[in-house]
Amino acid sequence: MKLANKLAFITGGGRGIGRAIAFAFAREGASVALAARTRAQVDSVANEIASEFGVETLALECDVADAENVGRAFARASEQFGGGPDILVNNAGIAETAPFTKTDEAMWQRHLAVNLTGTFHCTSAALPEMLERGWGRIINIASIAGKTGAPYISAYAASKHGVLGLTRSLALEVGANGITVNAICPGYVDTEMTSRGIANIVAKTGKSADDALSTLKRASPQNRLVTAAEVAALALLLASEEGRGINGQAINVDGGTVLF
Ligand code: NAP
Repeated sequence: MKLANKLAFITGGGRGIGRAIAFAFAREGASVALAARTRAQVDSVANEIASEFGVETLALECDVADAENVGRAFARASEQFGGGPDILVNNAGIAETAPFTKTDEAMWQRHLAVNLTGTFHCTSAALPEMLERGWGRIINIASIAGKTGAPYISAYAASKHGVLGLTRSLALEVGANGITVNAICPGYVDTEMTSRGIANIVAKTGKSADDALSTLKRASPQNRLVTAAEVAALALLLASEEGRGINGQAINVDGGTVLF
């Protein structure tokens, strides 16, 4: 068991990539705390995992954009598990598309608040105990949009570029303390976020859903979407003892869409 006696706190653990990471970690013996805004989804994943793997789980209703919410969620996890997480996965995220001239300040702020400041809030809550313990793993689910740009995603791409800046700086700051900080940069993943993107393309362009899906697939030289389990497999390596030499990296899981 690679993660026996470890507690992982996973934001956005109610579906998609966060859910897959929670399963991958629990399969290796980790206890998991799952935080998202939709209580029913985190409850359901926590129950499924507890019954399948027999590990301790906790479902937390939490908006990562809200510092008080995050403080309460970490306090509740600490109460149940007798301490803070060994592993933090900052996965909660939103993605909306709009031409820049239709990107209003509210949309801009929403992306920064959830994707970037949410990562800051949870990292601030988790790091002090990791420093005390002299061991920790922080895994930020960024995006290839954190490395490169694309039309209609200025707010999303800016927030994910910010996540990479945070990742790299913090990795250098805490590298001597037994803590690694890394980012995963997926391409298009087969989750609800991508399904919503496809629905949006259909609504805005009149393309069929099949054509929209083909366009997204063709962004990858593998001509397919990445699976959430493939992202989770890398998260597991980064979380494990075996991954201790990997620090400050932003690793693509995108089939080769972006080559840096
Ligand atoms: P998803 O299916 O939409 O799941 C997103 C998760 O984040 C949900 O559990 C959602 O739950 C949670 N979340 C959203 N806003 C939140 C908030 N303010 N506070 C707490 N939780 C929040 O998306 P996904 O595809 O799994 O994406 C997960 C991460 O991967 C995101 O950071 C995304 O940007 C990144 N990513 C995805 C893709 C892709 O193609 N799907 C590609 C690259 C990167 P609630 O809505 O209930 O809060």
